[in-house]
Amino acid sequence: MGLKTAAEYRASLNDGRVIYWGGEKITDVTSHPRFQVPLEVACSDYAYDDPDIRDLITYETEDGTLAHRVYQVPRTVEELHKRLALGRQMSIVGGVTGVYMALLQIKDRLAAINPQFAENIENMYRYARDNDLRAAEVITDAKGDRSKKAHEQLDPDLYVRIVERRTDGIVVRGAKLHITGAPLVHELVVMPTKSMREDEADYAVAFSIPVNTPGVKIIARSFAAAELNAFDYPASAHHSMPEGFVVFDDVFVPWDRVFLAGEWQMAGAFAASLGLWERTLGLVMAAYEAELMVGLADLVTEAQGKERDPHVQDAISELICYAEMIRMGIDHACANYETTADGMLHPNILGINVTKYYYASNFHSMVKQLHDVAGGLVITLPEEADLRHPEAGAYLRKYMAAKPDTDVEQRMRVFNLIRDMTADALGGWYLVTALQAGGGLKAQRIMMARTYNMAKARQEALRAAGAL
Ligand SMILES: Cc1cc2nc3c(=O)[nH]c(=O)nc-3n(C[C@H](O)[C@H](O)[C@H](O)COP(=O)(O)OP(=O)(O)OC[C@H]3O[C@@H](n4cnc5c(N)ncnc54)[C@H](O)[C@@H]3O)c2cc1C
Repeated sequence: MGLKTAAEYRASLNDGRVIYWGGEKITDVTSHPRFQVPLEVACSDYAYDDPDIRDLITYETEDGTLAHRVYQVPRTVEELHKRLALGRQMSIVGGVTGVYMALLQIKDRLAAINPQFAENIENMYRYARDNDLRAAEVITDAKGDRSKKAHEQLDPDLYVRIVERRTDGIVVRGAKLHITGAPLVHELVVMPTKSMREDEADYAVAFSIPVNTPGVKIIARSFAAAELNAFDYPASAHHSMPEGFVVFDDVFVPWDRVFLAGEWQMAGAFAASLGLWERTLGLVMAAYEAELMVGLADLVTEAQGKERDPHVQDAISELICYAEMIRMGIDHACANYETTADGMLHPNILGINVTKYYYASNFHSMVKQLHDVAGGLVITLPEEADLRHPEAGAYLRKYMAAKPDTDVEQRMRVFNLIRDMTADALGGWYLVTALQAGGGLKAQRIMMARTYNMAKARQEALRAAGAL
């Protein structure tokens, strides 16, 4: 019980979990080379001894104990702001552990249908918090033929479903895809990916189980190789995290870990609530990355003497506008926060969805602006090893100098970060992630349509048209 050290966290993952990666069955993630960078990333959330971040990453619970702040239910504006500040400080594994906020946000509505399941949520939250666990957001099903409902699929397991109800619990089967950090968390918090109808009741299932539960198998995938040179790959050498293709091969879930088992009316609420918190965190990271893109565009063009070029100034203005719109969107959503019946503050749902939509639908054209001003060296710049070679390095230093004070190493690092973030394996990951992680554009369109005050807009339009 209580806060874990990074060493304790590492050791806790050697628990018999079944992980596959690159055609290999990995029996101990803690010692396998492919997991070393992701583990370092996840361990950074356990740096409780660091005086610079200790106050931000911890808080005092109502029991008087210390816990990671990702578990703090925001009840004041200050706590909501701290949660967002934490988003910049936390690893992605810490970030997805925010899944408990999504569960707590809908707990009261669930209590009206099944009080025991609501109590299970509260108990699981406290258990995870008090043991300083990390959890994955396990929502996206395999989904098969998108034009068919869950129970109409060729294979009934294409959405996770209950295959057996027993006196002591349920047995579930199916697979959830793309699960961020799944191999390195303790708990898999599973919920339906969409609203369910009455005839899909077996698919309205939510629960939490440890990763080493019999029948759970995870096939991992990452954009980053085991070892990358930090000069050539400034971002991905330090910041990779695998996603997991998580299979539930007839997994038993005891009743005290079940949050939904057939209450189809509540399935959509889980998905919507998770979407809000996931998108909020995604936007905090997006605001940071957009600022990096502005800085990179300015640095790369200055080094080339293009800073006065009107075309470059236009591109940089576009990037500034993009970065500031995301930041303002987050600020707006927090300033106009909403409150649940039991006093939890959460960002404005419309504000977050509009901002996520704006971020995602413009990301690719912002990358285009950056590539346009940066030029082809983004992908053809030689590697650090050549810079360090006495003969090749001399040529690089001669021909990479553009101005009397050019710092060639710095110039190369700037190009490398642009390539790493936008044009290489991590760059490709970002291109898809911007669109899909936290739900695709369609998911935000649905939420915008649900939450926008259309009655007021119609009224205003009628009044302006002289029809009222
Ligand atoms: C890097 C990354 C990390 C992720 N992390 C997580 C995670 O931690 N947990 C998690 O649960 N998920 C995670 N996801 C999954 C993410 O939420 C999904 O990728 C996203 O919701 C889209 O679902 P999909 O990939 O199944 O694509 P699809 O649903 O196939 O969507 C692709 C396109 O098809 C369209 N489409 C979908 N359904 C229909 C339909 N019925 N009719 C017409 N068009 C349709 C969509 O609008 C979209 O344009 C992650 C994804 C990425 C890329």
